[in-house]
Order: sequence, then structure tokens, then C-alpha cells
Amino acid sequence: MSLKMSETRPDINKRRIINGEDADVIQLHPMKHNFAWDAYLAGNANHWLPTEIAMQDDIELWKSDQLTADERQAFETALGFFTTADSIAANNLVLALYKHVTSPECRMYLLRQSYEEAIHTHAYQYIVESLGLDGGKIFNMYREKSSHFSKAKFILTFNEGIFDDSFHTGTFETDQKFLENLCIFSLILEGIFFYSSFAVIFGFQRQNKLVGSAEQIQYIMRDESQHLNFGINMINAIKEEQPELWTEDFQTRMVDLVKQATELEYKYAQDVFPNGIFGMNADGFKQYIEHVADRRLAAVGLPKQYHTKNPFPWMSEAADLSKEKNFFETRVTEYQTGGTLDWE
Ligand code: FE
Repeated sequence: MSLKMSETRPDINKRRIINGEDADVIQLHPMKHNFAWDAYLAGNANHWLPTEIAMQDDIELWKSDQLTADERQAFETALGFFTTADSIAANNLVLALYKHVTSPECRMYLLRQSYEEAIHTHAYQYIVESLGLDGGKIFNMYREKSSHFSKAKFILTFNEGIFDDSFHTGTFETDQKFLENLCIFSLILEGIFFYSSFAVIFGFQRQNKLVGSAEQIQYIMRDESQHLNFGINMINAIKEEQPELWTEDFQTRMVDLVKQATELEYKYAQDVFPNGIFGMNADGFKQYIEHVADRRLAAVGLPKQYHTKNPFPWMSEAADLSKEKNFFETRVTEYQTGGTLDWE
């Protein structure tokens, strides 16, 4: 944008998530997308760092013979997925979304969110280091295991166009492409692909195993549910600001992509937890993934596809940080818990 001196102040009515008319992305006022500012404040209130969580019990347990081969594999596999997902998320925010978003308050949250994705990658690195895992194996898993690869590939395919330097919003096609990226990123990557891995980790926690790592993942899940809410709010705001983009065709395509992603997530759960774990079997995972997918669809006004009951109702309890914190007594620092967040 070329800067000119002017006493005319930005008009709130011209603020848009994308394609803000005469968009001044430098000044925060006047704020229109208040959900973004609220998310920014909640993110700060929920600030945490991986190094604040005690890992000693996990280190001792991992060194002992108290974990089965299946349990070790399930843990490493979920960790392998997380490492890739958060890096892809960070890249998408910084390289694809930020540049095209013309709402300064949304940009503020995107900066906060990007930092949180870095904290998550830090957490995985901290777990790897604490337990003495093979970092090469964990961080390269998305290239070595086909079900990890398929999920990463699915997401990256939709990033390609937006990452391109020549990509600009402002036409029907490119605006739809941007909206598609947002749906894939928020609803599918952050909203579906994380969830069977979350379930596995909380499975450990329910057995009182690897509680330090599980606590790390609890904080990550709290951040991720905020990211997801923000993404849903952006999608719904774009729908209001540019309703012409939300065509029947587009809706059908989004539903179809969510269904494809649900299949990939189901395959992933079957591949990586073939015998189930802690009483969670492949069937349970399938139902859980379907339940989650339906929630994501409904959040942006798309029709539910599965109508499946949640087989893991304890997932929302697993995210109750204050309870877990007192139970395990692993933390000394108090952070505000996000009472208004959608945990699932
Ligand atoms: Fe995220």
C-alpha cells in the first residue's frame, strides 16, 4: 500500500476479512472483527510454556519396562503427527493467510496464533528431548508413514496456490480459493486431523501414564480449540461480507472435502492404533472422528453427514485443566482457564 498523508480516518464499514476497501492494515482502529481481539486476549490469558511442565515422571516411566510396545508406538506415532501438523499450520498462517487478511485485528490474532504454533513445536521438541526419543524418527514420520504422509499431502495440496507469489484475492475465483484454504486449514487440519491423536494422548492420561506429556498436549488442545474458533469466525465473517462466494457448488465441495478428510483420519487411526489402545478401538475412533467432523460442518452452517454419538465423552473432561492440574500437582503457575472455549 502506498502511504499518503490524510486526515480522513478509516471507515469501519469498509473493513473486511479480505479485500477491505482502501484497507489500512497498519492501524488497529476502528475495530470491526471483535472476535479476533477477544481471541487475542484469551490467547494471552492462556499463555504457557512447555518448560514449565514437570517431565520427571514421564522420563522415569519411559525408561522403565512399564509401557507396552503398543503403547510406545501409539505415543510416538501421535507425536509424529503433531510435529508436522503444527509446522504446516505455522507456515499456512504466516505465508498464506496473513498476507491476504485485511482486518488489522485479525492480523493481531494471527501473530499470536503463529507464536502459539511455535510453542507447540517447542513442546514436541521438549518431549523428544526429555524422553530421549529419536528426533529424526519423530519429526520425519510424515515422510516415512503412509497415513501421516496422506494427511500432510492433503493439506499441502490446498496451500500451493495461496503460497504462490502471484496469488491475489479480489476475484471470485481467488476469493473462493482463499476461503477454501481457510476451510481446509481450520475445519480439517485444526478441527479434525488433530483429534484422534489428542484422544490417544488423553488415553494415557486417564491411565495416569505420561502425565507430563499429556499435560503439554492439554495446553496445546486448549490453544487449538481457540484457533479453530477463530478460523470458524473468520469463515462465517467472510460468508457475511461476501455471500456470493458461498455457492451451492462450493458448499458441496467443502462437505466432500470434509468427508475425504474423515476417511483419511479414519485410515490413520486404523494404521497407527491397529489394536486399539486403552479400550479405544478402531470403531470408537471412527465414531469419534465422525462426531467431530459433524461439529465442524455445523459450525459453518453445512449439513451434518454422520449423526454419530460421541463415543469418548471424557474428551471434554480431559481438557479441564484446573482439575487435571490439581489432580497431578504438576504445575505451580496459575493461568486463567478459558471458560468460554469450545474444547472439542
Ligand atoms: Fe493451531
